[in-house]
Amino acid sequence: MAKGSVAVVGAGLAGLSAALELADAGFDVEVFERSRLLGGKATSFTVGDAEIDNGQHVYLGCCSEFLDFVGRVGMSSELYLQERFEVLMLRRGDRPSLLRARSWPAPYHLLPALLGYRYLGWPAKLQVARGIAEARRRNGAKGSFADWLRRHGQGEEARRAFWEPFLVPALNAPLEDVSADSALFVISTAFAESPRSACIGFSRVPLARIAEEAARRAGGVHLRSAVTGPLVEDGAVRGVCLSDGRKVRADFVVLAVPPRTLARLLGDPARFGLGRLEEFRSEPIVDVHLWYDRAELGVDFVALLDSPVQWVFQKAPGYLCCSLSAAGELVSRPEGELVELCERELSAALPSLSRARLRRGVATRDPEATFVPAPGLRRPGPRTRDPALFIAGAWTDTGWPATMESAVRSGRTAARAIVSRTEVS
Ligand SMILES: Cc1cc2nc3c(=O)[nH]c(=O)nc-3n(C[C@H](O)[C@H](O)[C@H](O)COP(=O)(O)OP(=O)(O)OC[C@H]3O[C@@H](n4cnc5c(N)ncnc54)[C@H](O)[C@@H]3O)c2cc1C
Repeated sequence: MAKGSVAVVGAGLAGLSAALELADAGFDVEVFERSRLLGGKATSFTVGDAEIDNGQHVYLGCCSEFLDFVGRVGMSSELYLQERFEVLMLRRGDRPSLLRARSWPAPYHLLPALLGYRYLGWPAKLQVARGIAEARRRNGAKGSFADWLRRHGQGEEARRAFWEPFLVPALNAPLEDVSADSALFVISTAFAESPRSACIGFSRVPLARIAEEAARRAGGVHLRSAVTGPLVEDGAVRGVCLSDGRKVRADFVVLAVPPRTLARLLGDPARFGLGRLEEFRSEPIVDVHLWYDRAELGVDFVALLDSPVQWVFQKAPGYLCCSLSAAGELVSRPEGELVELCERELSAALPSLSRARLRRGVATRDPEATFVPAPGLRRPGPRTRDPALFIAGAWTDTGWPATMESAVRSGRTAARAIVSRTEVS
């Protein structure tokens, strides 16, 4: 017999990981998803004759819960993860420089990469090495990461050639807007934990395949089924209300949606012990997908310095995907302009592309790709004041920035909170 019934709202990674965990623990789970697609912000769809991700997603070796989740849905073989940290850095008008770690104990594994990095002079190399060592202490740093860099003697060169290319995409925000605490978390977790933690990985299959497999194992998933709010009777949550008027009863509800959507669904979040949800700031990401008659990077991806395009991925022969994190006003530019911008940036950094002909360009953009709390605002945990209502989402309090790793952690934490509630009662 099932341990109880759970309605999960949202089939992003948070909702799906909660659903999977609960199904494995013996609950009857139904997932309600507003869209026709699975995966939420980590999804894919067809454009013309190509299936593309809504945006290039990467993870690191330290994203243990995400990697475990994909393993549990039987898709590990579709994930690529570097054996050791290695990135080809490019700067227009300059020779490429390869950052390659050694298999030495962390953080010394990065030392040879840093020493050989030609875009940093000796003083800047020393600054970065010192910065990584300092970051390991964390010490509850206050203020922005940009302030932290200034306070810790990191000059312009170190900032432009090292901290920006890695930290802006990792946290999807300009360094002035990133809290020192979250940046130091990323540096200490990725660069200083183990040689494997900074290794970069990506899915070899469209992202929706992972979500589809998770949904298949999690139980009933209803697409195009928008929830309008929890079903509240006698002052207690008893299930969810759907936009088509149906009411679905459940012992527990997990709302795995973005913060502003959550505020809308709850109507009066304060009643559930949740406040200031509209004060979570969203950051956009733009991706520009370019199909050339021929275009070979020679590696899986490269990082571009001093460019709004931070990373370029070789998705297939002739198909390059440009990733523009912390995209700011670029998110509202017309597609043609974005395609032109990326084509220009790529030809400047990759002279071999000047002989290639662009066949087609498509821009995908998400103005709310990630969320950060306003200064002084705490991210909520999974529990609410109602014993049957739980929340999840990459933006909630997982200790991680809003990433796939955070989404999976939040979903699993919400699921475990439900399991422990049934064990107590
Ligand atoms: C372009 C882009 C690039 C990114 N790159 C990276 C990266 O490289 N690495 C990384 O780790 N992270 C990356 N991220 C962030 C990562 O994708 C997200 O943090 C994570 O997927 C969020 O998962 P989630 O389940 O918390 O939320 P979501 O994915 O937003 O899921 C919420 C779901 O709820 C559904 N929903 C909303 N309202 C309702 C309703 N009323 N009823 C029913 N369903 C509803 C939505 O349709 C959605 O499917 C990127 C995001 C974007 C957009």
